[in-house]
Amino acid sequence: MSEVTNAPSRRGLLKLGSIAAAAGAASVVLGNNPASAAGTATPAQPKFAALPADAKPLPMGPDGYRLDRIGPEMFAVTAGGTQSAFVVSNRGVILLDAPPALAKALPAAISKVTSKRVTHLVYSHHHADHISGAAAFGDIIRIAHADTARLIRAEHDKTRPMPTRTFTDRYSLTVGNQHLELSYPGPNHEAGNIIVHAPRQRAALMIDVVLPGWSPFSAWGTADSVPGVLRAHDVLAKLDIDTFVGGHVHRLGTPKDIKVSREFTYDLWNETRKAVAATPSAQFFGQVEPGNNWAAFKLWYNAVADKVEPVIYRKWLHRLAGVDVFTRENIVTVATSQMLDAPKDL
Ligand SMILES: [Zn+2]
Repeated sequence: MSEVTNAPSRRGLLKLGSIAAAAGAASVVLGNNPASAAGTATPAQPKFAALPADAKPLPMGPDGYRLDRIGPEMFAVTAGGTQSAFVVSNRGVILLDAPPALAKALPAAISKVTSKRVTHLVYSHHHADHISGAAAFGDIIRIAHADTARLIRAEHDKTRPMPTRTFTDRYSLTVGNQHLELSYPGPNHEAGNIIVHAPRQRAALMIDVVLPGWSPFSAWGTADSVPGVLRAHDVLAKLDIDTFVGGHVHRLGTPKDIKVSREFTYDLWNETRKAVAATPSAQFFGQVEPGNNWAAFKLWYNAVADKVEPVIYRKWLHRLAGVDVFTRENIVTVATSQMLDAPKDL
């Protein structure tokens, strides 16, 4: 059942990298659309870099979802680019998130491996795409960080029932013969987004921070704290695990995926910092209508991104998927974070 240890084709990745380098980053992104050139009504679409081998979709099971064994009693369910996991104890099933995209797949997958019912649900964070299938599991024990509870309360959303237990720093969850360590590394992708460590399964789950094989989504999916995303990577990198559950895209991760994602995130941060230091913003205020501060900042962001983007493409286009899709806007996110969050310890 497990596909976790499939090694990516390094030769394939290197080949892609050399093609991308030879073609130049701009031509990879701004290709011509043949239909448009032929005069049809189809609007021109940008071309994107091909996915590296270890970022491509994996085969689904016969029922349209993927069930991977993570550890002796832990499993992951993946479908439609969304992922959650569950742990089977001798007293019941502990579910880690209830994504609406897996509303059918999760109960089906659980019933394939155990006849025990779901007794506990851990919310990774408050985002609807990971927990708004929760109500379907009925009146069970729901555990979340206190900030996740506050965010859910503010939404007044029946699909996200309130947690019945909350914590702030650490929470040890023991259900029968299973033990999970829940911990909070501080605000990151979202305030309240936690790490779930299952030592007996040699696995951990943290959602929307490390996406195995992939570069970050747009603005890290509305990241509450970009420095916090870096700090969360630091914490994940220290865990003694074999398998990592990231919550999105196509496969499970390994400690190497955490290491690579951390390297990318720090690289983007450091290259943006260099570009910001080399690009004084004052010059752009003279290029726009007096008082149009937004326009001046837009020009400044463009100048910063023009410096960082080619550097990141050259180093990362062949290593992670989607680098050419959202990196430019993530440079803007990082530049804004460096102005506003102004962290001193990174
Ligand atoms: Zn999220």
